[in-house]
Amino acid sequence: MALMQIAEPGGFPSERRQQMRAVGIDLGTTNSLIAVVEDGAPKVLPDSNGAFLIPSVVHYEKDGDVLVGANAQSRVLTDPLNTLSSIKRLLGRGITDMPRLGNKLPYEVEVREGGMPTILTRYGPVSPVQVSSEILRCAVSAGKAYFGSEIDGAVITVPAYFDDSQRQATKDAATLAGIKVLRLLNEPTAAAIAYGLNESEEGIIAVYDLGGGTFDISILRLTKGVFEVLATGGNSALGGDDFDRVIADWLCEQTGIGPSIDPSTQRLVMTAARSAKEDLTLAECTSITTLGWRGVLSREHFYKMIDSLISETMRTCKRVMSDANVKSNQIREVVLVGGSSRIPLVREKVNDLFGCKARSELDPDQVVALGAAIQADNLAGNRQSEDMLLLDVLPLSLGIETMGGLTEKIIPRNTTIPVSKSQEFTTFKDGQTAMSIHIVQGERELVSDCRSLARFDLRDIPPMVAGSAKVLVTYEVDADGLLNVSAMEKTSQVVSRIEVKPSYGLDENEILRMLDDSIRYSKDDILIRNLREQQVEADRLIEDLTSALDRDSDMLTKNELLSLQQSIADLRIFRAECSDHNELSVRIGNVAKTSESFAERRMNKSIQLALAGQTLEALEKG
Ligand code: ADP
Ligand code: MG
Repeated sequence: MALMQIAEPGGFPSERRQQMRAVGIDLGTTNSLIAVVEDGAPKVLPDSNGAFLIPSVVHYEKDGDVLVGANAQSRVLTDPLNTLSSIKRLLGRGITDMPRLGNKLPYEVEVREGGMPTILTRYGPVSPVQVSSEILRCAVSAGKAYFGSEIDGAVITVPAYFDDSQRQATKDAATLAGIKVLRLLNEPTAAAIAYGLNESEEGIIAVYDLGGGTFDISILRLTKGVFEVLATGGNSALGGDDFDRVIADWLCEQTGIGPSIDPSTQRLVMTAARSAKEDLTLAECTSITTLGWRGVLSREHFYKMIDSLISETMRTCKRVMSDANVKSNQIREVVLVGGSSRIPLVREKVNDLFGCKARSELDPDQVVALGAAIQADNLAGNRQSEDMLLLDVLPLSLGIETMGGLTEKIIPRNTTIPVSKSQEFTTFKDGQTAMSIHIVQGERELVSDCRSLARFDLRDIPPMVAGSAKVLVTYEVDADGLLNVSAMEKTSQVVSRIEVKPSYGLDENEILRMLDDSIRYSKDDILIRNLREQQVEADRLIEDLTSALDRDSDMLTKNELLSLQQSIADLRIFRAECSDHNELSVRIGNVAKTSESFAERRMNKSIQLALAGQTLEALEKG
């Protein structure tokens, strides 16, 4: 237990001086916010113009100046190519995501060497990490103004579905902005903290977050003030922007503008669409004037246009509930997060699905930043109590490749993190001195159907007989969701390790596809796994018998030797051609039986040698 700090007589109250200057930052796709805890209560800090929401927009000026936030947003219409918004969609993404994202973005994106996207501005090429760091720097300047000094550290929130490389890119952006990251925190988890749900009784909580660019749903379980994330799901390409686009498409139709419009016109229509959408949250209909066209959009019509998008979020909620193994009537509270959760249709559908009234007293734009501030305050040790522990989960299983191209799951999906798991492996061949470790992510049985994360080799294993080396492989996922893998040969203590930072991100749709596939192909997968296992078994027997014959063929008569050699050759052919694991298993059994008396004779010989004073080790060395 820490010593209690006592105020010096006549000095400042020690509390004020001892406090760490910790902030919470919601680095949003559309808007970013910074919050602090003051006198035990969280609050969002205003920027120099008094605004709480910092639009996540960066503008590169002719003279090399960089504008961020509202100042940058005013250039969206006049200079779209040099005004970057929704950059979070590109953060930590690679070349494979570009066709999907590229055509949605109104600025020029190029893929550079290494497969990472770069945006071409008049300032020169800039990376999503650089752009995000400008936004973070802008947020932190509000923090510096508040404290009157540098800040000590920040908790930065990320969507629950951000993968390793997206989380790493967020950290890189913070480092570039000179910010010490205390913790990356999942946005939905931050929202639950903001509502202080950890202070109430036990129960299951759902957090529904519909922002500008992303959708997230998390199911949390609260037990004596401790949150555990039972399951999470979402879609990084679904949010208010899509509602804007639906209205914008409709506007283009109405005004008779073709699909290939220039970026400025595109933005103009998008801006009109967005304000119409926000009007419809309060009004039954709204009038729109754009590009010389005047018209009216009703709420009813708008709802028709976005119904399928909202239904998609409901389907994700159902899937995540089944992942978490909870029914809607078990969910005690639902929390609404994100500007788009203000849309009455969204609230209605959420209430219907979960069968209760969702919480919305706190500003849905602010909840995430408020929760991050509380968490930052906690981690900085400013709070007296240590009553809050946060646990997040892995979206996909992490596994390792084993013989036959099979996946062995080391940490199953939806395991709470941080987590560390070890498993022991052994060598396959006599005298094997290296082992290749292949780390994969996914639910399928075959490595080729999973996502490859990294490979590395464990070398300098002392030569031993097959199966006697003990290689301990440890998977460690830290609180930020980053994976560290190490492999150690136990007798020699040789260690090799790797930190996994995949070069590009994994989209939620890909995660969904991987999950769907694992269900769809589960039967086939089991059959293939069984066959591969028998093939490995056959290989092992062939290897064993061949090396035994190399050493001890003199124990056999000429006929026995020929017949054993023949059965090995037959088994090799049968193994290559057979596609039925049962038949292969029977054949392996037969060969093993044929070689039984040979094995017995070898066993007797080794016992005799042992009795004659030879060490087992010498025997093994042959
Ligand atoms: P993000 O987390 O992606 O940064 P926010 O939570 O800040 O996003 O939400 C921004 C989105 O919320 C935008 O698409 C914006 O148009 C939408 N939004 C904000 N206010 C309203 C409103 N009153 N009605 C409907 N949508 C709204
Ligand atoms: Mg958000």
